[in-house]
Amino acid sequence: MNAPPAIAISGLNKRYGKFHACRDISFELGQGQVLGLLGPNGAGKTTIIKSIVGLVHPDSGSIRVFGQDALENRAEALRHVGAVVEAPVFYGFLSARDNLESLARLSGPVSRERLDEVLAVVGLADNANQKVDTFSYGMKQRLGIAQSLLPDNRLLILDEPTNGLDPHGILGIRLLIRKLSQEHGITILVSSHLLSEIEEIAEQVLIIHQGRCILHGITRELLAHGSLIFVRCRGLEALPSLPLPPLRAERNEAGEWELEFADDAIALSAQLPQLLAAGATLLELSPRRQTLEELFIALTKDTQDAASDRFGV
Ligand code: ATP
Repeated sequence: MNAPPAIAISGLNKRYGKFHACRDISFELGQGQVLGLLGPNGAGKTTIIKSIVGLVHPDSGSIRVFGQDALENRAEALRHVGAVVEAPVFYGFLSARDNLESLARLSGPVSRERLDEVLAVVGLADNANQKVDTFSYGMKQRLGIAQSLLPDNRLLILDEPTNGLDPHGILGIRLLIRKLSQEHGITILVSSHLLSEIEEIAEQVLIIHQGRCILHGITRELLAHGSLIFVRCRGLEALPSLPLPPLRAERNEAGEWELEFADDAIALSAQLPQLLAAGATLLELSPRRQTLEELFIALTKDTQDAASDRFGV
C-alpha cells in the first residue's frame, strides 16, 4: 500500500470575523518532500500553518496528516509533527540539552542519546552544555528545530525560520533543511519570504495571495516554464525582420542589442543566421531561467503596485 501524504489539505477556509484569510486552499505534500509556502505579508500562510497544527480552527475543509484526520483526531494526527511557528522560547539559564530535556518531558521521556542526536543533527553538538543565554539568534533557531524533531517527528512545520538571521545563519538553515529532508527523510513545510531560499530547497512551491492559492506545482517545472534564451550582439543599427520576433529587444547603454527569445533551440537556430547576415557580432548567447522571485512578483503584482502607491516609489 502506498504511504499516505504527510499533509493532505482540501477546501480549507478560514475567516476572522468578516475577513476571509484562507480561501479554498487544497494541496498535498508527499512524505520526505519539502514544500515552500510563499506569499506577501498577510497572505494567509500562518493561518494555514496554524490550522494544520491546531492553533486555529478552520471554518470548513479537511486536513489529514499522515492519513489521520487532524480536525477530528488532532492528538493522533500530530503525533509525529514538530512545529516552530513563532520564535522559539527557551530558559536562558539552562543549557541547550537541559532545555530540550525539560521541554521534551512534557510529551514523555526522551533518552539522552536522542537529545544528543538531535543536537548533532542541527549542528549544536559542541554547545550541548552551553547556557542558552549565550546563544546567538541563529543558534536559538537551530535549537528550536532540534526541539521540533523530538521525540521522533517525521513532519516539520517551520514558519519563516530564517527571519532575522544573517546570511550565514540563512545558509545554515538552508543546509539543515536539505539535510533533514535528504538524509533523514523528514517532510518539511516551510514558509518564507526568501524566494531564493525556497527555490533552492523546496521541490514544491505554493504561492498564497490574499488568502487564495495562485500557484502550486513542482518548483523546477514552474521555473522551466518561463525559461528564455538571451542573445547580446553588436553591429546592428536596426534589427532585421526575424521569422519569430524576440519577446524583448532593447539596446543597452553600450549600443548593443539585448534580445530574449522563447526557449526553443530549433526556432532560435533559424533566427541566428539572419542576425549574423545582417552584420551582427554575437557577444553572448545564454539560457535565462526565470527565478522564483520574478514569477512571484509577476503573480502578486497588485500587492506590489499598492506598495508603490503607498511609498511613492
Ligand atoms: P506574514 O507574512 O505577514 O506573517 P501571513 O501570510 O502569515 O503573513 P496570516 O498571519 O495568515 O498571514 O494572516 C492573514 C490575514 O489574516 C492577515 O490580514 C491578518 O491580519 C489576518 N489575521 C490573522 N490572524 C488574525 C486574527 N486572529 N484575527 C483577525 N485577523 C487575523
